[in-house]
Amino acid sequence: MGIAEVNSTAIKALAGEIGFDKVGIIGPEHTNGPPWTRSVLVLAMATLDPAFDHEMYIEYDGRRRWHKFVYTILEAQGARLAHALREEGLRAESLTFEDSFGCIDLRVAAVQAGLGVRGLNEVVVTPKYGPRVRFTALFTDAELARDHPLQDYYCVNCTRCWGACPTGAIGPRGFDRSRCIAEFAPTPEMAERQREMLTFPTPATRLQCRACLDSCPVGERQGVFYFDVIP
Ligand code: SF4
Ligand code: SF4
Repeated sequence: MGIAEVNSTAIKALAGEIGFDKVGIIGPEHTNGPPWTRSVLVLAMATLDPAFDHEMYIEYDGRRRWHKFVYTILEAQGARLAHALREEGLRAESLTFEDSFGCIDLRVAAVQAGLGVRGLNEVVVTPKYGPRVRFTALFTDAELARDHPLQDYYCVNCTRCWGACPTGAIGPRGFDRSRCIAEFAPTPEMAERQREMLTFPTPATRLQCRACLDSCPVGERQGVFYFDVIP
């Protein structure tokens, strides 16, 4: 997996080979990664199919929680990219979701990296996939060319996501986290609302609410039908 020359183009191509759909690069400002960080790769994966938002209730290492498998994929791909960069003699550390809250605000970073713009649904809306993406990040000591925020704005004459939200969590007054049923760590009151409003294919699996994502007209909305691509 060696890359002959370490630069932003080569690293983005490598990230694409590993499975990321979009990559942007920012400086370490506004992030709280390792002190040797010179560049931060913000890595996006399209999640067009609602199955990406299935969660499973697991007990691991003494903790019980809902777990979303797309985050496992992002962590694994990020670790693979970090390993490849270390093979090139760079320092590189990918994000784990346990430490993401203290290290980086992924939505802010994605906007800074030019991957999308903040929409009225409060998530990052990308030109190609709309808001149907998930992000992770990788810190490296490589000095790489920076990307810049997009100058676009997609929410002109559109408030579709406001109308799609079943709880009124998004609207003219912004985002009310206490009403959003897509919370990982719900309060008892919210857990009750989730039980009433979310789909539970089995007692231990949950399909999260993504009505605000699926209603957005920006970008692609359908994933490939996987039987068409199985060799
Ligand atoms: S995830 Fe669901 S509840 Fe939360 S803001 Fe979006 S539509 Fe509303
Ligand atoms: S649904 Fe409309 S208002 Fe909401 S984020 Fe998408 S473009 Fe913006």
